[in-house]
Amino acid sequence: MNAIFRQDQLQFNELLQGTARYAGQFLQRLNDLAPGKRMPVFPASELQEQGIGAEAAQALFDERYGEHLTANAGPRYFGFVTGGVTPAALVGDWVASTVDMNAQDKSAVGFHIEMETISLLKQLFGLPEEFLGCFVTGATMSNYTGLAAARQWIGLQQGVDIGEEGVGVVKEIRVLAATPHSSVSKALSMLGLGRNALVKLPTLPDREAVDMQALKQWIAYNPGQPFIFVASGGTVNTVDFDDIAALVELRKEHPFWLHVDAAFGGFAAVSPQYKHLLNGWEAADSITIDAHKWLNVPYDSALIFTRHPSLQLAVFQNTGAAYLGDPAENFNYIHYAPENSRRLRSLPAWFSLKAYGAEGYRDLVESNIRQAQQLGERIAKSRHFRLLAPVRMCVVCFTLKEDERKVPLFLRKLEERGVVYLTPTQYKGTPAIRAALVNWRTTAADIDTAMEELEAVAATISDLSAIVDNK
Ligand SMILES: *Cc1c(COP(=O)(O)O)cnc(C)c1O
Repeated sequence: MNAIFRQDQLQFNELLQGTARYAGQFLQRLNDLAPGKRMPVFPASELQEQGIGAEAAQALFDERYGEHLTANAGPRYFGFVTGGVTPAALVGDWVASTVDMNAQDKSAVGFHIEMETISLLKQLFGLPEEFLGCFVTGATMSNYTGLAAARQWIGLQQGVDIGEEGVGVVKEIRVLAATPHSSVSKALSMLGLGRNALVKLPTLPDREAVDMQALKQWIAYNPGQPFIFVASGGTVNTVDFDDIAALVELRKEHPFWLHVDAAFGGFAAVSPQYKHLLNGWEAADSITIDAHKWLNVPYDSALIFTRHPSLQLAVFQNTGAAYLGDPAENFNYIHYAPENSRRLRSLPAWFSLKAYGAEGYRDLVESNIRQAQQLGERIAKSRHFRLLAPVRMCVVCFTLKEDERKVPLFLRKLEERGVVYLTPTQYKGTPAIRAALVNWRTTAADIDTAMEELEAVAATISDLSAIVDNK
């Protein structure tokens, strides 16, 4: 054994204790740390011939990157849709790396942990046992996996096995959606269907949800053509939901694949107040849910649920490796998902579900929604801002009342001050700002702080205040 490996092995315990101290100190600062900031240009780094050992590497890391770490997981990071690791999930994640097992098949415990976690999640979301659930790295990969099974289904409607023959042998495949997440286009490109396969249908007025009449019309113009429908189970700008129950009804008359992208909106299911938004989703063919968003487990973690394991097998089977055995006889995740070797990423979720239970997640979801609504009410009353859509769940979508072209300037100033972090968007052509609240750490006090900060920054860039100041 190399001498430095041996030295690290001998002081493994001390190293872990040092890391625990470092982690503890970081987490204690999380509340006050800037949620985002501009990065410098980092100098190039050379791979040394002689290593320095883990303890010195930790010190070097802190020296090089410590001051640039931001509170992505902190209570006032409202950008994108970003949770923050729960205490139990962090413990689980540490254990997952400690045991460093490949989660594939029944021969090792990782598989059984994943199966149990999937079952807990189905209970959390009220999804039927029949769904096969799989951990993947993010909702983009969930969408990819669901749409890959859908592509296989479309092929079968045309008498073709796309997994074997390739996508070139099928007639054009159409993927319909009203307000799909950007990752759907990416998935279509990765699947060889092409981004142009996406047909964007109109929404209902002042909504992001699909106009069902438009869908019925499309079907009338394309009689008998099987297609894929990607339903929004929570859009990123306004958390709007397609009418999934109506889609399920329509599918009884016209065959199509119903994929529900419920990356974070799926958490409506944990609350009796909001679960109606997902009515009908239990009949979907495939469902995407992110875990590194509202489940508040660390990156990278998401779920794909499908009712069609045999189609997944047709796409993802890793044939030709005799040592894996017959996929039909020995269930192995290798044959059902994009990854072959896989991290034990179910473990952080298992820890967090066991630690906080259904009640913990219901409280988390309902309190984030209350906070978003309170923020929304205050933004609607502010002289600086204009709310662009009602706050349906955890996202507040708004713009600057006076001059919406100043949104980038506003966000830059906000970031520089380092108290609250928001990200830009476009809502129905208007430059807009989103605040997404899905973090277990966020409290009512953070909403107060955030609102004061928004008002203060808006005042600094307002022409009105400039006139007042110049007097
Ligand atoms: C975040 C999100 C995705 C993509 O998720 P990643 O985890 O970033 O891959 C897909 N769909 C929706 C609705 C999302 O909110």
